[in-house]
Amino acid sequence: MRLVDAHCHLEAEEFAGRLDDVIAGARDAGLAKLITASVTPDQWALSLELARTFPEVACVLGVHPWYCREEDLSLLDGLAGAVAMGAVGIGEAGLDTKTDRTPFLLQEAVFEWQLAIARNLNVPMVLHCRGAFNEMLHCFRKIGVPQRGGILHNFTGSAEVAEQFMAYGFAFSLGGVLTYRNSRKRNDMLRRIYPEHFLLETDSPDIPPVEAKDRPNVPANIMHNLRAAAEILELTEEEVAETITRNAVRVFGLTL
Ligand SMILES: [Zn+2]
Repeated sequence: MRLVDAHCHLEAEEFAGRLDDVIAGARDAGLAKLITASVTPDQWALSLELARTFPEVACVLGVHPWYCREEDLSLLDGLAGAVAMGAVGIGEAGLDTKTDRTPFLLQEAVFEWQLAIARNLNVPMVLHCRGAFNEMLHCFRKIGVPQRGGILHNFTGSAEVAEQFMAYGFAFSLGGVLTYRNSRKRNDMLRRIYPEHFLLETDSPDIPPVEAKDRPNVPANIMHNLRAAAEILELTEEEVAETITRNAVRVFGLTL
């Protein structure tokens, strides 16, 4: 069985000094590729280095809405060049109305800039969207989107909201929340986006599955997320694994 973790943060401090073990564990769990996402411009060089060092790692570069700063607007000039150095897309980028870490207007400016760069380069995006689906769709209408689309990670919307994003060519990745097996809305949405628009993630070191609750979450825990997805969809794990891997290869242009 070959799997892809469509979204994790190997740059996180919790992994410093232990990445050889974490990636060996991921390999043992069947992961052929992990897509790590930087959250600040300070991490871009590290993301690129991880992708160069480990054949299993691909990276996306971006600025996360929780961490955007005024000065990032000038650093975004360098994003296209940094992506050309070996990233498979732009992210983690997005909008979040449920945080008070950063003002929404700044989030919007930083997001729109990244969206424009992704559109011009036509590279996929990894999006974070919390409490801001309408706001994000508004940015899509205003700026446009990359033809290659991308993913909304840890997607929390309904099947109806998913439809609106699919119309723009986006897919969705889900992870630890699946293991709570507690939301009819989420199950309905999963059945709607499956098979073509569903990818699997861990968001390591965040969102540990219910079966392995300790932090840091690690990519090897993707097997719990896979089991939960297969249960909800009433399919075999092998079938779901094949589907999510095919989708990740398509969205990010991976070679496994
Ligand atoms: Zn993330």
